[in-house]
Amino acid sequence: MTQSYPSQIWHNGRIKPWADATVHVMAHGLHYGSSVFEGIRSYPTPNGQAIFRLDDHLRRLYQSAKVYDMVIPYDQATLASACREVIRANGLERAYLRPIAYRGLGGFGLSAETPVEVAVAAWHMGPYLGPGVLEAGIDACVSSWQRFAPNTIPAGAKAGGNYLSGQLVAREARRLGFGEGIALASTGLLSEGAGENLFLVFDGTLHTPPVSAALLNGITRDTIIRLARANGIGVVERDLPREYLYLCDELFMCGTAAEITPIRSVDGRPVGDGKPGKLTRQIQDLFFGIFTGRTPVPEDWLDYV
Ligand code: PMP
Repeated sequence: MTQSYPSQIWHNGRIKPWADATVHVMAHGLHYGSSVFEGIRSYPTPNGQAIFRLDDHLRRLYQSAKVYDMVIPYDQATLASACREVIRANGLERAYLRPIAYRGLGGFGLSAETPVEVAVAAWHMGPYLGPGVLEAGIDACVSSWQRFAPNTIPAGAKAGGNYLSGQLVAREARRLGFGEGIALASTGLLSEGAGENLFLVFDGTLHTPPVSAALLNGITRDTIIRLARANGIGVVERDLPREYLYLCDELFMCGTAAEITPIRSVDGRPVGDGKPGKLTRQIQDLFFGIFTGRTPVPEDWLDYV
């Protein structure tokens, strides 16, 4: 986020000034990473601003909470209206939304039954990996940090603590001058980017690592799989070894924040001819066509503000 903050935030049931949405320094979530959250985008469309796949994102929020026995004290419809309300309260035309539920203050110790607090923030966000990256692509590297093993921290729950791993991957990549880092799973096979899923293109078919490869089952990943299949493009979910990053014809990352970001090189080796590929462009067109009305999608994918 840049230096200027939005003026309003939804916190524990109501809209309040940004500066008043505070947390106690002894909150459980701060010490132990016990928060679950979502990243959601809204886009202008010909029928007004729409939040993309809001229900699916909120469903994942409750699922993440379930993994950690965390009971969110609001129902999904309340959080959905909080998302719409916080966009309106800040007068945003396109927004990145961050609902978060976290264990607050209330006793000490890992299994303390602390109250669960909830906030929804919204702000304006351009391309996550930097200006111009959707067109030009980024240079990525394979991280020296692996993703956590599946029997340690569940990658399928979008919990605050998971992002210690993401920070190691992302910060190492930036320190070495790369746009983003890609992590391998504990099996040594491809997993995902610090905060994005991966797609490789071979002979006009999309290949993506399976959810068993310690990755978050991304909603953008799911969107791409559905759009591709609806448009006659093959998709395979499969184990992929690291060197396929160097051998594929095209490569891109995807996520709510990163949208569809082409990768033009990995570890200094050009991907294909070193430029965003044709199928990557087609997937970008299909994806952004959702918001212009060019790409038909299920009705409940667009939740109007
Ligand atoms: N993997 C990780 C680790 C992420 O943080 C994200 C962003 N939420 C994704 C993948 C992409 O998920 P989505 O498309 O649902 O935003």
